Amino acid sequence: MEFKFEGKVAFITGGAQGIGKEIAGVFATHGASLIIGDINEALLASTVAELRQLSAQIEGYVLDVSNLKSCEKTAKKAIDKYGHIDILVNNAGITRDNLLLRMSEEDFDRVIRINLKGTFNCTKIISRIMMKQRYGRIINIASIIGIIGNAGQVNYAASKAGIIGVTKSVAKEIGSRNVTVNAIAPGYIQTEMTAVLPDEVKSKMLESIPLKREGKPSDVAHAALFLASDYSSYITGQVLVVDGGMVM
Ligand code: NAP
Repeated sequence: MEFKFEGKVAFITGGAQGIGKEIAGVFATHGASLIIGDINEALLASTVAELRQLSAQIEGYVLDVSNLKSCEKTAKKAIDKYGHIDILVNNAGITRDNLLLRMSEEDFDRVIRINLKGTFNCTKIISRIMMKQRYGRIINIASIIGIIGNAGQVNYAASKAGIIGVTKSVAKEIGSRNVTVNAIAPGYIQTEMTAVLPDEVKSKMLESIPLKREGKPSDVAHAALFLASDYSSYITGQVLVVDGGMVM
């Protein structure tokens, strides 16, 4: 199976680090042109400089996915630059963990606003472009927590379960325009997001992973590569779990 993305434009949110950065790198290696949107301006600049070693066709834009206007402006910049957007990866996400009784309303709202509404915002703007093109691949980064839940992550679990609902609903709405919409549900992946977890939590998670290792950002990026490719053209509305067998 050979993946060829020459002439394809991918728009990746939260691509300045972690899983999004890895997806950007893998897509660029396979010939895609990229728009990387991220709220972390400093990191975005250094990531774009680093990824330009792989491909000259990489633009980085400061983007706040929770703000519809910001998504609109960034999509317009992307269209002005490349003329089309073929792949959207809704990857930007945060955690603000706490037990339900201690979770502030602000932390609940913030996680929903960035993870879930951010996915809605970018999908709303970019799906319109894809529908006109009669071509598109939308990949939403959910989480196994959206499937199984987790103590201390009511906000995050709700946002990721919501993303799965958005994925299936949008897949039904726009399938007739040749746009597929799928989700990836990663398990425990080594990034800045999980680096802050206490060692005991990490070793407990490791025990429950049949493949006996943490996931790497590249494990998720390769799943995204498949879902963005023409090899997955008859797959839509699905959730691909990438977790070393943790949930089955
Ligand atoms: P990460 O290393 O923290 O990277 C996320 C990036 O998104 C950061 O650069 C972050 O900027 C940016 N971001 C935050 N808020 C944003 C906003 N409003 N608009 C645009 N960009 C924003 O996280 P990751 O581990 O790579 O996670 C990527 C995705 O995978 C997330 O959706 C996460 O929920 C999901 N996921 C991760 C794991 C895991 O184990 N790591 C497991 C399952 C699912 P700041 O640095 O400024 O916050």
